[in-house]
Amino acid sequence: MPTDVDRLLPTEDAEALLELTREICAKELAPKVDEAEAAGEFPAAAYDVLGRSGLLSLPFPEEYGGGGQPYEVYLQVIEEIATAWPSVGVGTSVHSLTATVVLANASEEQCQEWLPRMLGGGWLGAYCLSEPQAGSDVSGIRTKAVLDGDHYVVNGTKQWISNGSCADYYILFARTADDAKRGLSTFVVPGDTEGMTFGAPERKMGLACDVTTQVIFEDARIPVAQRLGEEGGGMRAALSALDAGRLGIAAVGTGIAQAALAHAVGYARERKQFGQAIGEFQGMQFLLADMGAEVERARASYLHAARLKDAGRAFSRQASIAKLTATDAAMRVTTDAVQVYGGNGYTREYPVERLMRDAKVTQIFEGTNQIQRMVIGRDLLR
Ligand SMILES: Cc1cc2nc3c(=O)[nH]c(=O)nc-3n(C[C@H](O)[C@H](O)[C@H](O)COP(=O)(O)OP(=O)(O)OC[C@H]3O[C@@H](n4cnc5c(N)ncnc54)[C@H](O)[C@@H]3O)c2cc1C
Repeated sequence: MPTDVDRLLPTEDAEALLELTREICAKELAPKVDEAEAAGEFPAAAYDVLGRSGLLSLPFPEEYGGGGQPYEVYLQVIEEIATAWPSVGVGTSVHSLTATVVLANASEEQCQEWLPRMLGGGWLGAYCLSEPQAGSDVSGIRTKAVLDGDHYVVNGTKQWISNGSCADYYILFARTADDAKRGLSTFVVPGDTEGMTFGAPERKMGLACDVTTQVIFEDARIPVAQRLGEEGGGMRAALSALDAGRLGIAAVGTGIAQAALAHAVGYARERKQFGQAIGEFQGMQFLLADMGAEVERARASYLHAARLKDAGRAFSRQASIAKLTATDAAMRVTTDAVQVYGGNGYTREYPVERLMRDAKVTQIFEGTNQIQRMVIGRDLLR
């Protein structure tokens, strides 16, 4: 599946990184995606190769073991990974989200302790915010962390946790006071902490290799030293990291749409009806043209937000616009790709139905697209 994306990259270093990413995608990810997604296996080998190649740590400072790359480069790497294997694109983005929380909230001592392991390639993270009754409205979080000497005792259930049961550490948001908005605090919790168990993987419509489980805390004792930032700072920490995380999901959506477009163009060249390739019909060309325009719009929207972020400017509204634009594009383009394939598109023999199933959840997680509209609308009216 040739994707021929014409990228404008800021440095030769970035060009080499994208080249390396494409090579890994072609050799290590794309050949495995169909079988692994059908089986719903956690892609440990994929994260291993990405970690060893330095692709799990790109947008973080070199002093902590990061790649020191701008966000615009990191996101294009995520897009390439998601084009080859959407679940791995999501898992990589979630991993970055966890390190973003640490970098923005931890003390220097905590950064020195945790980040080199998180960015070293051997450790994968998970982000524990949602609960069964607290999805869009995280002020409804009930998981409690009660101070007991030099530990917090944590009880509660987190829902929908990507990399759940497979991650090496978990960034946990739990209630340390009753105040709905200022009562949350942030913790880093290694996956082998006593009192922590995992639900069975959810049986999802798509993205099967993004293993998603409940994370259950029953009298789990977490040292005070593992609290990141002040007590009560959890809501701000969670939401500000999500601005960056949403850009990762926008890049994933773009990658899924790009994959669907490339498959559709290839099929339109090969499939013949009425004595000619279906791509020669103007009706088909217009469909493909609209798909191509959607993909470019999606990419442009996340790159604009990323460049604002890289320049140290406010980018929250643009991150929500990019998430909304790119993930809605992913849904439309993958649906149209199924149309281009006709009856074949509706079968599991061809990849486009999987891409359509994978696309759907990008409109739901890291803030549904209704919530993105709320963020954009409020910011416009501020
Ligand atoms: C595969 C998958 C992976 C996930 N991974 C993670 C993860 O790693 N970590 C994590 O913490 N969470 C994760 N999530 C959870 C995800 O972020 C939530 O599902 C999402 O925020 C929506 O919450 P909800 O499912 O409770 O829906 P609800 O909040 O119940 O929303 C239901 C519907 O109501 C709409 N709605 C809600 N409030 C409003 C409003 N004010 N205005 C208009 N419409 C509204 C929503 O848009 C939606 O359409 C994941 C979810 C999935 C499906």
